[in-house]
Amino acid sequence: MKKITVFGSINMDLVARSPRLPVPGETVLGRDFFTAPGGKGANQAVAAARLGIPTQLVGRVGNDNFGRSALTNLQTFGVQTDRILVDETAHTGVAIIAVDDTGQNHIIVVPGANGRVNETDVENLINLLDNAAVLLLQFEIPLTAVLSAAKAAQNAGVRVILDPAPAQVDVPDELYPLVDIITPNEIEAGQLVGFPVNNFETAAKAASVLRQKGVGTAIVKLGAQGVCCATAESTFFVPAFPVQAVDTVGAGDAFNGGLAAALAEGQTLHEAVVWGAAAGAISTTKSGAMSSMCDRATFDTFLIKEWRTGEF
Ligand code: ADP
Repeated sequence: MKKITVFGSINMDLVARSPRLPVPGETVLGRDFFTAPGGKGANQAVAAARLGIPTQLVGRVGNDNFGRSALTNLQTFGVQTDRILVDETAHTGVAIIAVDDTGQNHIIVVPGANGRVNETDVENLINLLDNAAVLLLQFEIPLTAVLSAAKAAQNAGVRVILDPAPAQVDVPDELYPLVDIITPNEIEAGQLVGFPVNNFETAAKAASVLRQKGVGTAIVKLGAQGVCCATAESTFFVPAFPVQAVDTVGAGDAFNGGLAAALAEGQTLHEAVVWGAAAGAISTTKSGAMSSMCDRATFDTFLIKEWRTGEF
């Protein structure tokens, strides 16, 4: 089976909870604290690997404890990490997150090693493309590196899936024609097309605009509403699977992992969107991002049950 290759970010999230968020200059007493491995590149690689597809992540960490811990964690989930560069001049990317009792948060992301990903890493990636079915990209590493990786994948005939997250306004026009499948959520789609996207109608319109910009297929993720997918032939809607959601963090990353896994297994695009929606839905039933990605057995059981009950 061909591999999934992911070119993207690796972070450590440092999460503190307190009854309320401090105002500038104030110190408040926190209630609990934990670290959680994350980064969109790492999350999507784990989502794909957990579904049983050989998955390789290309990116950077710093030579520090967070970096070592991130690598060990990725390996535990079955992600191949031998092309992850340990950058001696930068720290591992971190997100410093404060959450209050009402769920409001303050987040500071410091890209560190992620921000130093460059042509050296693209060279590393190119050597892997011969065996790749799909390349997954996001926007947590420099845009120049994303562009260069997409060009390399197109030259190698590897399908490019771009998750344009976090939302960006200054996406270069030349990137779109290099992308086979783009997968924004509502906010990101709105930023890219310049009008609000919040339902199937506006999502279909946004998908059409993205296709006019040059992408092959545009998939707009609409959270609990489901997914709108526009190809050259048709525009279709896949409703969200009915689940008891407890935490939607990481749902978009789970979706991309599921989508890529199905394509790597040779499924149709429609089937791949269903896989993405199923992986996204299952991830919302557990808290956390990486820790909410499901294994293959759970995934298969979920899909079989949903088909049998006719809910989907
Ligand atoms: P992001 O995390 O990037 O904002 P979404 O929240 O749109 O992405 O989630 C991605 C996909 O996961 C959705 O399109 C949907 O298929 C699935 N999903 C997300 N939230 C739910 C939910 N509450 N119930 C069922 N499926 C969900």
